[in-house]
Parts: sequence; C-alpha cells; structure tokens
Amino acid sequence: MALLVQKFGGTSVGSVDRIEKVAEKVRKFRDQGDDIVVVVSAMSGETNRLISLANEIMEEPTAREMDVLVSTGEQVTIALLCMALHKRGVAARSYTGPQVRILTDDSHTKARILDIDNHNIQADLSAGRVVVVAGFQGVDESGNITTLGRGGSDTTAVALAAALKADECQIYTDVDGVYTTDPRVVDSARRLDTITFEEMLEMASLGSKVLQIRSVEFAGKYNVPLRVLHSFQEGPGTLITIEDDDNMEQPIVSGIAFNRDEAKLTIAGVPDIPGVASKILKPVSDANIEVDMIVQNVGADNHTDFTFTVHRNDFKKAQAILVRLSEELEAKEVKGDDKIAKVSIVGVGMRSHAGVASKMFEALSVEGINIQMISTSEIKVSVVIDEKYLELAVRSLHSAFELSEKPA
Ligand code: ADP
Ligand code: ASP
Ligand code: MG
Repeated sequence: MALLVQKFGGTSVGSVDRIEKVAEKVRKFRDQGDDIVVVVSAMSGETNRLISLANEIMEEPTAREMDVLVSTGEQVTIALLCMALHKRGVAARSYTGPQVRILTDDSHTKARILDIDNHNIQADLSAGRVVVVAGFQGVDESGNITTLGRGGSDTTAVALAAALKADECQIYTDVDGVYTTDPRVVDSARRLDTITFEEMLEMASLGSKVLQIRSVEFAGKYNVPLRVLHSFQEGPGTLITIEDDDNMEQPIVSGIAFNRDEAKLTIAGVPDIPGVASKILKPVSDANIEVDMIVQNVGADNHTDFTFTVHRNDFKKAQAILVRLSEELEAKEVKGDDKIAKVSIVGVGMRSHAGVASKMFEALSVEGINIQMISTSEIKVSVVIDEKYLELAVRSLHSAFELSEKPA
C-alpha cells in the first residue's frame, strides 16, 4: 500500500472514452489498497482553443483574465473523472487549485507555487476517497486565479507529491517514458530506464517537453521519486534519479533535445568598445525579453557584429528595439531570422570526456549542416542551425552517438 500522485496529461483525458479508461486504471490501484491523488490536465487541444478565443478579441489580453480563462479547461476534466470514478463505485472528490489552496505568487500565466495546504486532501484520503486535483492552477494571496505556465500540470503533481510526502509521483502520458530523443522524430529513439535529475532538467530546458522544467526542479529540490509512464500501456517507464557517482559507465551523451521556439537577431557593425554589449542587451531585458544564446564576433576595424537569440514570440519586439538602437550606435544593419532551431546533446558523462563537441560538429558537417551559433556547459552542447535541417541533425547525432544501443 502506497500513497501515489498520478498525473494524466491532455491526450490521456482527451475524450470521455479516455477519461473512463483513466478511471478504470485508478480503480485498479485503489483496489490494491493504494491511496491515490490524481492530477489532470485539460482535454488535449482545449488550452490552445481557449487561448485562440481570447486572441480573437485582442492580441494581448491582461494576464489576470487569461488565467481566469485557461484554468477552466482543467475544471472540466476533474469533474468528468470524478463522475467516471463514481460510476465505478469509487469514492472521489474533485478540487480546483484554489480550492485545495495551492498558493502561488502573483505572476499570472507563469506563477510559482509557494505553499500547499494539504489538510482537505489528507481528510479525504483518510476517509478512503480518491482526490482529483486540477493541474496547472493555483491562487495568489489576494484570491486571484493563477496558472503555472504551459505544461504546468506536471508541476502541480510533483508539488502535491512533495507536500504529501507521496511514495511516488507518476506522470502518465502518451509515450512510455523518457527517450534518448523525441520518439516522434527519431524512430530508433530508445526509452531510458533511468535518467538523472540533472540531465532531465537540461533536456527539459532545452526543449524536451515531456516534463515541464519546473516539475523537474521541484522534484530534485524536494527529493520526490518521479516516474514517466504510458497512460494505457503496462511498463516500468523512466525513473528520474539522483546521480550515481559510483557508476563509471555513464554514457557520454544520454539524450538529444531540440526546439524551434527561438529566433536569432544580429546587430552588425557596432563599435567594438567596452559597454556595447550592455547597451544592446539592457533595453531588451527592460522590455522583459529573455535572451538565450549570445555571440559577439572578433572585431575588425574597431567594429563588431553582435548576435543573440530570443523566444520567437518576442522576435518582432526585440527587432524593433535593435532598429531603434542601430541609429544611436550607428550600426551597419539589423538582421533577423526566425527559421532557426536549437539542437543540444546532453549527458553527465561529458564531464569526464573530451572531444564530445568536435564529434557533434563532425556529424553535422558530414550532413552539410552549417552551425550558426554554439554554446556549451559542463553537461551539454547546443548549436543553432537552419530549421529545415532540424530532423536530419537530430537523426544524425542520434546515430553518431549510438544512442539506439543500450550502453554495456
Ligand atoms: P502530456 O499532454 O501528457 O503532458 P506532452 O505532450 O506534454 O504530454 O509530453 C509528451 C510528449 O513529449 C511526447 O508525445 C513526445 O512527443 C514529447 N517528447 C519530447 N522529447 C521527448 C523525450 N526525450 N522522450 C519522450 N517524449 C518526448
Ligand atoms: N493544460 C495546460 C497546457 O496545455 C497544462 C498542462 O497540460 O499541463 O499547457
Ligand atoms: Mg505535458
């Protein structure tokens, strides 16, 4: 008998039929004697549908009203799942985030969880009920509804598991675990039995949306046993683990992540003098635009080119800032490209191995793929390439690092 927090994503509750299947699964765990808290997402496509309704009215609605709107998706699924449980004779109760009292800060659309009042949940569990909680949402101190950012139901589940000291947080989804790369892009991608928190955090930050970044941060911080599994197929899934220092056989590269969410901007021919980087980036950060990769060329004739990437949603805004700055700095030109992709190799084994980056560059060059930008850390190498080569790049790196084969 265990206390389990089980999260079911959008596809897994995408129809009444699937909600009934989820209820059936929960009933089986309950019959074994486990205490269950279920977290559900909105039905697949629902959050996007709500966002587009808002955008029919205006481009930038206030974040507060956006949260009131998009949090409704999850309220539908908690009620339907409870009904499906009741139909099976399973006692269950639904709660929205504010009803539990998942207290967050007031950063609407990207709120952070501050505290969870678990006494309602505890009381229901003691009374033998399954508790069904709406993912992705909370409430701030003033009683406003907040949401946790796209994919935020993962974070609700992990935070609840931490607050309840659950035996395991199980993320049920439409793949049977975490793979060496997105199995929808590389057929020969391999499911990992385990992946370290550190690697999973990098994979998630670099674009593998199988887990929301914050859920991994949370699990690492509060030591929550976290597992990714398929909603409707049996199997062990992938366990996210603490790094095993004794394991000398760590593969050098564990996985490949990618994203198409970024755009690249260059301000060319700016004076190569101290302070120019801050002159360019300050107004960008003042406009609340996050900068990811940055490259400054070696200057010639006391001039240099300065390139950086931002989220694609911020591309136009950042470009307008650079155009304004280019007059002040007497820059030659401003160039922008939103057809780029970032591909990254990730692995804790890189720490103790040289030559990983050059092997990556070699594999890309064999395919004739030009590298536009590079950034590295202890456990990852990222490159920016033309978006049209993304899938080819991921496939060739997957094969160059022999990720389909299980390490000995
Ligand atoms: P849910 O709606 O259940 O939260 P998501 O769509 O958010 O599901 O996440 C699951 C998806 O993540 C999979 O369908 C898969 O395409 C994608 N994905 C990306 N990278 C990976 C990876 N390395 N391993 C497994 N799935 C991945
Ligand atoms: N429904 C929200 C989204 O689509 C939250 C989630 O599914 O985790 O982003
Ligand atoms: Mg998700």
